[in-house]
Amino acid sequence: MQNAIDLLKSHKLRKTPGRIDILEEFMENNFALSHRDIENSLGNKYDRVTLYRIMSGFEECGLIHRVFDGESAIKYALCSTDCDSGHHHDEHIHFLCDKCGKTYCLNFELPEIVLPKSYQLQELNVLAKGICENCKK
Ligand SMILES: [Zn+2]
Ligand SMILES: [Zn+2]
Ligand SMILES: [Zn+2]
Repeated sequence: MQNAIDLLKSHKLRKTPGRIDILEEFMENNFALSHRDIENSLGNKYDRVTLYRIMSGFEECGLIHRVFDGESAIKYALCSTDCDSGHHHDEHIHFLCDKCGKTYCLNFELPEIVLPKSYQLQELNVLAKGICENCKK
């Protein structure tokens, strides 16, 4: 696995302590994180505005993607390697665990759906719910 510094470099981002710390949070957790989660772990080192700014920069350059899980807070997860600036390719299923409330990226392709002829698909989000592997133990 790449380290945070290489990952920043490959997305043409200058390495700053804030960027490295946030990226490491995403690399260390296999579930999606909200602004609040990041604030809870790094809020004593950086102010909220800095954290928000870095995260929206990460989203723009293809490092993290939004995870729609129906919860009120927006969550983000680390992107696959094919994501790039302005182009996200995170076409996979998200899984929300009923027990721990964590949302995971599952490496499964989205099912194909057929829309009525006059509708044009631009984006598809598929959310599965259930009990995750950690809670099932
Ligand atoms: Zn992405
Ligand atoms: Zn769980
Ligand atoms: Zn995902």
